[in-house]
Amino acid sequence: MTNPLLTDWTGEFALPPFAAITDADFAPAFEIALDQARATIADIGADPAAPTFANTIAALELAEGVLDRVSGVFYNLAGADSTPAREALQRDLAPKMAAFSSEVTMNPALFARIEALWATRDSLNLTPEEARVLKLYRQMFQRAGAGLKGADRHRMAEIKERLAVLSTAFSQNLLADERGWSYPLAKADLAGLPDFVVTAAQAAGVERGAEGPVLTLNRSLIVPFLQFSPRRDLREIAHAAWIARGANGGATDNRALAAEILALRDERARLLGYKSFADYKLEPEMAGTPAKVRDLLMRVWTPAKAKADADAGVLTAMMHKDGINGDLEPWDWRYYAEARRKAEHDLDEAVLKPYLSLEAMLGAMFDVAGRLFGLEFRALDGPFYHADVRGWEVTRGGKHLAVFLGDYFARGSKRSGAWCSAMRSQRKLGGEVRPIVVNVCNFTKGDPALLGWDDARTLFHEFGHALHQMLSDVTYPFISGTSVARDFVELPSQLYEHWLEVPEVLARHARHYQTGAPMPEDLRNRLLAASTYDQGFATVEYLASALVDLAFHEGAAPADPMATQARVLADLGMPRAITMRHATPHFAHVFSGDGYSSGYYSYMWSEVMDADAFAAFEETGDPFDPATAKRLEKFILSTGGSRPADQLYTAFRGKMPGVEAMLKGRGLIDAI
Ligand SMILES: [Zn+2]
Repeated sequence: MTNPLLTDWTGEFALPPFAAITDADFAPAFEIALDQARATIADIGADPAAPTFANTIAALELAEGVLDRVSGVFYNLAGADSTPAREALQRDLAPKMAAFSSEVTMNPALFARIEALWATRDSLNLTPEEARVLKLYRQMFQRAGAGLKGADRHRMAEIKERLAVLSTAFSQNLLADERGWSYPLAKADLAGLPDFVVTAAQAAGVERGAEGPVLTLNRSLIVPFLQFSPRRDLREIAHAAWIARGANGGATDNRALAAEILALRDERARLLGYKSFADYKLEPEMAGTPAKVRDLLMRVWTPAKAKADADAGVLTAMMHKDGINGDLEPWDWRYYAEARRKAEHDLDEAVLKPYLSLEAMLGAMFDVAGRLFGLEFRALDGPFYHADVRGWEVTRGGKHLAVFLGDYFARGSKRSGAWCSAMRSQRKLGGEVRPIVVNVCNFTKGDPALLGWDDARTLFHEFGHALHQMLSDVTYPFISGTSVARDFVELPSQLYEHWLEVPEVLARHARHYQTGAPMPEDLRNRLLAASTYDQGFATVEYLASALVDLAFHEGAAPADPMATQARVLADLGMPRAITMRHATPHFAHVFSGDGYSSGYYSYMWSEVMDADAFAAFEETGDPFDPATAKRLEKFILSTGGSRPADQLYTAFRGKMPGVEAMLKGRGLIDAI
């Protein structure tokens, strides 16, 4: 019997044959793919011919083809539709994949070939893209410890393997805690909740096999509950469960894991000769150093905290007027902020949502991509990897560009949050390969599904990442699509969110799901006027997480991360009624892998650029200005990591941005 993961995928667009793949296929497929990659890489290292770019770098670029294919399918499923079998395999694979990656990037024969190429790089006649790829390979090998010898070398491999195990456990504990908690809502508990929250609670009850509606820790359910429930007692229970994720004691408690992860990262950076993990981690990023990151965050912290403190005063007065004395607590903020929003902007999320059906917003999202980049979307017949997943072929001028999959609804088997991944990346090496790109979200299912404003932003955000993959036009997979500096990668996604706020986009697409009537102009104006609403809160909860992340990785690793977290918040003067957006025990960005460790600041770094980049369109007077859109594609969306990010940005905009457009965008500039 042939393993469908290992055969050539000959169906339409060479999509993975989802229907034929069973869980039992993955383990043997990984084994064979790993063996094959190992053999190919050993051959490259042992090649008797003198090293050339083609026989070393280009060969390495293609050496893991089958492994990439199997991984692309598996890791997407593990995140978006996990099963106990998939979770077990993920745990089993984590140390094996880490060991394999170490074997490659610490391989002395490969490193020697790369060093030889580097030494002669000026005489190799490399294209600019090849020169960049060579430089990045050398950097990757150096940073992985290829230059280490003896005991240090051995220790480095050990550290990496252990980190892989710990970060997988961190994610799985979090998922277990999110799944493990639900709170039955009696009829009286539903009072004051808008229909969409009640419907979501009922759907959650059905999914959990409960008798009636339940509250769960899904962000799209619990956040609206905290926003709308007039029941302070229930809000307190809900908030306590929400912030306790990963810190409930017992087998799923993440606090000890966080401490061990930080200690190992610190050791790893020092083995490589860096002062701290943050110094190591930031070296290849745009920011470059911890000091630059801190400088940006603190420049924003001061006006954000001033705004949040002023808002806390207003909300506290509203609460006292309700007859509740004492301090505004974290479980009160969203509720009174929502009430204030209704009073000041007369904006009721429940009135808004019927105009923001998922169908309407998908239409808007595709239309914007059509107007900016000439893209066309044709719905494909599934089935894909889950019945809820939808697919489109993306073309331009009749030419195939990509397959785009949208997996939008929350379910118990999906981890929380929203993300974009490429099941297959674009490349031209060895023949043109076009990408398969997936957007995964956690919207509440409904008939039809109606989005909140934040959900609609998330939809656009993830699609911005998808465009970065789908418009990619490079030769080498190493720098394809979103393979760019971490503090640059959120630029396309956050930039795309701006088009959701363009009045004519809303006028055309935000239509009532029952009547088809456009959103009343007055509602639209109020919505846009409210877009900077509560940004003091949003900025403070985000910055607190970013500054704790930085403190964790700057200097020696803390023995007790929770104590460090408490100290950082105290030093900042964290407002009492705001909690971190992600506290340590559930800070998946930082602990479920290395991606955003000492990198959570990246969203704001990118936001400085996205605000400035959108201003480039606004300055022309046309949010769809064709020349600016062309430059955006030419220098940013198609180029991947083929040049350093600051060069790409400068090529697009002529100069690097200041923070002003970002502060203005958040409505914080008045507070300076
Ligand atoms: Zn993003």
